[in-house]
Amino acid sequence: MHEFWRTVEPIVYEGRIKVPYSWQAGETASYFLTQLRDRQKIVGKKCPECQQVLAPPRKCCPFCFVHTTEWAELTGEGEVVAFTIVHRGTPLQPMKSPFAYAVIKLDGADTQLTHFIEYQDETRLKIGARARVLFQEERHGNIKDIKAFELIE
Ligand SMILES: [Zn+2]
Repeated sequence: MHEFWRTVEPIVYEGRIKVPYSWQAGETASYFLTQLRDRQKIVGKKCPECQQVLAPPRKCCPFCFVHTTEWAELTGEGEVVAFTIVHRGTPLQPMKSPFAYAVIKLDGADTQLTHFIEYQDETRLKIGARARVLFQEERHGNIKDIKAFELIE
């Protein structure tokens, strides 16, 4: 602590700032988001070097550092790789608790996507469970066009 603060009481005021901004998603994310909005399809992008399908798509492969080139349309079904159930709600949570997040490895993709997962029976939500995407009725071209995933089988 600086000597100055030994003689002066620090006064703290609480404040808030609002900074509206917008940004362009770029060509890869824009295509991904318009496919969600207009076709209710999840697409990935294939790396020409390692052949992995990245979903969500990336403009550049994070493993090879080369530009991805080829789009891959996915079925919207996959496997739960990890999940967590949120039991304790806070005002900052996007949903009323309890709700769950899951990491899903979509069929045909080599990477994973994290989103909400709906479940009726908590004992069915487990690693290796099959899941499929659910889209919002009204879509706006953002990741929330995916309402959630749901368990199948
Ligand atoms: Zn690669």
